[in-house]
Amino acid sequence: MQLTKSNYFSQEANRHYMSVSQFKSFLPSYGGCEAQAVATLNGTYERSSVMAFMEGHYVHAWNEGTLDEFKADNPDLYSSRGATAGQLKSNFQHCNTMIEVLENDPLVTKALAGEKEVILTAELFGIPWKVMLDSYNPAVGIFADLKALKEIDGKWWNKDAQAYENFLDHYGYTIQMSVYTEVEKLATGREQWLLPHMVIVTKQNPPDHEIIYFDYEVIQQSLNIVKNNIERVKAVKAGLAEPVRCEKCEYCRQTKKIQTIKHFSELSLY
Ligand SMILES: [Zn+2]
Repeated sequence: MQLTKSNYFSQEANRHYMSVSQFKSFLPSYGGCEAQAVATLNGTYERSSVMAFMEGHYVHAWNEGTLDEFKADNPDLYSSRGATAGQLKSNFQHCNTMIEVLENDPLVTKALAGEKEVILTAELFGIPWKVMLDSYNPAVGIFADLKALKEIDGKWWNKDAQAYENFLDHYGYTIQMSVYTEVEKLATGREQWLLPHMVIVTKQNPPDHEIIYFDYEVIQQSLNIVKNNIERVKAVKAGLAEPVRCEKCEYCRQTKKIQTIKHFSELSLY
């Protein structure tokens, strides 16, 4: 299947290819759920569109140089009622502030330079993967991913590891960067990995921003995490194993039927 910008996020593309977000959507440790992932792939469940998603798209459209088209294509960005009718909704006005922060930092401009929204595919762990690089600059040996996040400094409780983790581990961003790096290497036949960078701007007021790079060691470690989990994901996606329900996500809550009555002590916080 030939991927383009218009079919990259399609159901068909997601069924044919694995992507990092799809992989994570199967894993409870990254907030995923096998039952929801399968229902999403076969079209019986559609995630309710979240505002935060649009804010990310808004900032990405700026990076791609297509913000004007994006605004024209999405009238929902504008307020339709009251005194503010016709103006950008306040959260998207704040996106403009975030964009200004990025535009005014020369190192960000440097990190985000290169070809935009580059689609690459390669076979990894026995299945085809697709990636989209926000900014691709192989001439200087880097690529960059742009993220609009709530905050950088928070800590998240990892129930499996019984420990706090930072946003990189919590959202599986090291996994994303490692798969992107490996797919780029395989797709181009390059001998060495590029150095993945992440440009982050927060939704705080005023926004914080940061550029983070990843080294070969974390790329290898993160690829191992994928390797250790991919066979289960492949089996569930192919319908060879029954998807497990988490009973917590949006899909599971919508389709929940109580199987057993819980003892009160099962409701542990940690
Ligand atoms: Zn679930």
